[in-house]
Amino acid sequence: MNNFTFYNPVKILFGKGQISAIAQEIPAGSRVMITYGGGSIKKNGVYDQVMEALRDYEVLEFQGIEPNPHYETLMQAVDIAKRKQVDFFLAVGGGSVIDGTKFIVAAVEYEGADPWNILAKRERVTKAAPFGAVLTLPATGSEMNSGAVVTRVSTKEKLSFGSPFTFPKFSVLDPETTFTLPKRQISNGVVDAFSHVLEQYLTYPVNSPLQDRMAEAVLLTLKEEGPKAVQNPQDYNTMANFMWAATMALNGVIRVGVPTDWATHYIAHELTALHGIDHARTLAVVFPALLRYKSEDKKEKLLQYGERVWGVDRGTEDERIEATIQATIAFFESLEVQTKLRNYEVGQDTIDTIIRRFEERGVKDLGERADIQIEDVKQILMLSL
Ligand code: NAP
Ligand code: FE
Repeated sequence: MNNFTFYNPVKILFGKGQISAIAQEIPAGSRVMITYGGGSIKKNGVYDQVMEALRDYEVLEFQGIEPNPHYETLMQAVDIAKRKQVDFFLAVGGGSVIDGTKFIVAAVEYEGADPWNILAKRERVTKAAPFGAVLTLPATGSEMNSGAVVTRVSTKEKLSFGSPFTFPKFSVLDPETTFTLPKRQISNGVVDAFSHVLEQYLTYPVNSPLQDRMAEAVLLTLKEEGPKAVQNPQDYNTMANFMWAATMALNGVIRVGVPTDWATHYIAHELTALHGIDHARTLAVVFPALLRYKSEDKKEKLLQYGERVWGVDRGTEDERIEATIQATIAFFESLEVQTKLRNYEVGQDTIDTIIRRFEERGVKDLGERADIQIEDVKQILMLSL
């Protein structure tokens, strides 16, 4: 096992009715800005619950954070928050609203030349305003991690950042807030969370049986609860199990002491930036191709994953690896998430564009061995056509 430092300060308030407890987590007298998306929270009563819980605070609203949050929009919130001297932020929504709010709280305190550099140049965040979250879409794990992904529309760039200052102070996970999710968003959430585990699990072995089994536990839970959640999004226990599995997939617990890949996410972000394809769908396209391309390097873990998660235990190693990748594809497709670029009407020209952009950006050394170069990215994308 590798050395590690584990730090996760996020307080989780899980379960029915927990939105009412947020006032205990926000300093009295704060001027609070609530941030949210296109209005789903107004239709499902989450907004009303939040406003009721914040009745003793001065509250400002910033509405309209898009899926794949836009830098341009977030900077408007930064401007308002500075002018109005906001003390505390509360993100209410899915990963996009929470990610966007992480950028807002970092940019509000930023003292350098251009806040875009937090993303483009990975300029280190040294402070951020405090914020909490009310999660309404299990998927990203953003509610219990410090990372965020932001899109700049003008240049079609989708870039990430993270810092120890951008953990939420608390996150409310009330499964009842997810009852209004469309099937498509539930499928996306299952695939995104599943992919987060694979990024941290399908690497090379470092003798980490506990991390492996915890990763497998999350995968098995998503495999079992995911299809049920799509079928029956108003079943409290199903949604509770799905919600907690998605959080556990990316809160840092399963990644301690093990190598992590993240090449799939890095490459897939380009497909969203260029074509607006849902994040999870881009992962479902890139992951199987990457696993095939890297099957030799990932052989031991692929065999273990196949056996423990999909019951693949017959045939030669090559046959078992192929059956395992096929089982993964079948799982994604059973959730109506397609796994080929052509399903999204994306072709060779997009691959050429991504390669050119990676060359301009000097992208190199992706993956757990830092051995995926631009030529490899091209091969991986060709396999996903
Ligand atoms: P999302 O973009 O936050 O939300 C997708 C859609 O679901 C929105 O239209 C939203 O509508 C709707 N929605 C949310 N909750 C709802 C509810 N309870 N009922 C009905 N509709 C609801 O989706 P996401 O998958 O959570 O986030 C995706 C983003 O997170 C991507 O940018 C991705 O790159 C990023 N990401 C971040 C991390 C991380 O660790 N930080 C990891 C993976 C991915 P409204 O706008 O109307 O609310
Ligand atoms: Fe993701």
